[in-house]
Amino acid sequence: MNPGRAVVTGGAGFLGSHLCDALLAEGWSVVAVDNFLTGRRANLAHLRHESRFELIEKDICEPFDVGRVDYVFHFASPASPVDYMVHGIPTLKVGSLGTFHALEVAQKYGAKYFVSSTSECYGDPLEHPQKETYWGHVNPIGPRSVYDEAKRFTEAVTMAYHRYHKVDTRIVRIFNTYGPRLQVNDGRVVSNFMKQALRGEPLTVYGDGRQTRSFCYVSDEIDGFLRLSRSDEHLPVNIGNPNEFTILECAQLVLKVTGSKSQIRYEPLPQDDPKQRRPDIAKARQLLQWEPKIDLETGLRQSLDYFKRALAEEAAMK
Ligand code: UDP
Repeated sequence: MNPGRAVVTGGAGFLGSHLCDALLAEGWSVVAVDNFLTGRRANLAHLRHESRFELIEKDICEPFDVGRVDYVFHFASPASPVDYMVHGIPTLKVGSLGTFHALEVAQKYGAKYFVSSTSECYGDPLEHPQKETYWGHVNPIGPRSVYDEAKRFTEAVTMAYHRYHKVDTRIVRIFNTYGPRLQVNDGRVVSNFMKQALRGEPLTVYGDGRQTRSFCYVSDEIDGFLRLSRSDEHLPVNIGNPNEFTILECAQLVLKVTGSKSQIRYEPLPQDDPKQRRPDIAKARQLLQWEPKIDLETGLRQSLDYFKRALAEEAAMK
């Protein structure tokens, strides 16, 4: 059974490429669109000979049309702090202009629409854990604002197309996610720690390492996306793992999983770095019967081979 044709913007990114795989496995025909600013062809290389898959190089900050589609999955955006701070203006553009263009495609073809938003909408949260009803605590002019405010605007445009044009929309708020295909140089904490541990370099802990994050393994995250994509919920839904770790605990786990003898090196905390982050997933549990299954240690073990291979490939290129 072919459920239809889907377009995935940002299809060559970490989450976008896993989503393409999952949709293909469900029988969809999939068009991935990416401008390769942070996405990578290597993430989709295994789909080269898949007849139901197509990859188009395009910047969706310009209007785009890939022909009739039944579902628009809008995932295009730099997403790691290092990436969106380097590419601040493209991040603002894809969250605003890119979102209009993705919604226009959905409106034109009467397609369903699903957009990736983020726990960054909650900023440095004063409510803990974060429920979808919390409006957030965001610095609108700080270094992270290029991403946080772009995604908050993305949500506003999406709700407006739903309210004014009756587009059948869904919004997922994604919390820290990790797993194979995470870019080794994207500066995220899991990629940095895995890279540093495997190279025997010191693990760089920013601040005192007592800030917290809650890490979701990629297969759990994608399962949540698919369930939400089939639901009729139009308001945002948190999808993330509620098990909360301090960054120091995360560093210790990486050392355990890799068997590395690396030391910890403390470095300054970046400006506006959120002190705590943990999703309240009661809504996803109730609405989607979704529950993450993979704990951090298991997920790190399952990611180990990928990081070893990626680092070996990088070393071979030098
Ligand atoms: N972090 C760290 N060392 C690193 C990279 C990140 O201590 O090498 C910290 C960072 O300051 C933040 C947390 O880890 O408190 C998660 O950072 P990440 O960049 O992965 O994503 P964020 O959750 O901040 O968007």
